[in-house]
Amino acid sequence: MFDWQDIDTVLLDMDGTLLDLAYDNHFWLEHIPTLYAHTQNLPIMEARDFIQTAMAAVAGKLDWYCIDYWSNLLEIDISHQTQMTSSQVALRPFVHEFLSYAKSLSKRLLLVTNAHHHVLSAKMSAIELRPYFDAVVTSHDYGSAKESERFWQQLQRHHPFNPQSTVLIDDNEEVLYAAERYGIAHTITLRQPDSKQVARLCTRYAAIHHFDELIHSAQ
Ligand SMILES: [Mg+2]
Repeated sequence: MFDWQDIDTVLLDMDGTLLDLAYDNHFWLEHIPTLYAHTQNLPIMEARDFIQTAMAAVAGKLDWYCIDYWSNLLEIDISHQTQMTSSQVALRPFVHEFLSYAKSLSKRLLLVTNAHHHVLSAKMSAIELRPYFDAVVTSHDYGSAKESERFWQQLQRHHPFNPQSTVLIDDNEEVLYAAERYGIAHTITLRQPDSKQVARLCTRYAAIHHFDELIHSAQ
């Protein structure tokens, strides 16, 4: 997959990579549509359709990840709802072991997420991972989602890294594609970002099921 000797910087996504995407899928596909149906007095199917159409319109864009955008559109305080549900956030298996291992090899660790600041801090309040990281970056700081080239240019400017000796681990293959186009040499995806859905058999990028595979591969 990659040789640890070739790596000095590890870029890690948060949702669906370090954290189980089951929380986010439940939040956006069940919790928020149910609340929207209730507050707008709509049938649940109509509420779901409205939200899914609105999401499709901004897929891959920063607005898709922006809770201010959704708070305005849906007239729901998404930040508050995130805080209310953050106890349901769950870590994916072997994350602590992997992060400790990478630190023990003196690798530089950057958390790079499309999550909004409020979502990031609500999740890190539930499961604190920030002490592992040399820096925590949200794409909202740069005004461009990780799917865009501009994000990677901005990351390079603020946190210089050598693309040849960098690995990005991210469950979103559009993000991996953007990173690869930028020149990041090592890209890994996840087979099962959401523990409640079936694992993906076909992926465009090299895939792991759990992080223990990357610990073992280095020994
Ligand atoms: Mg993700």
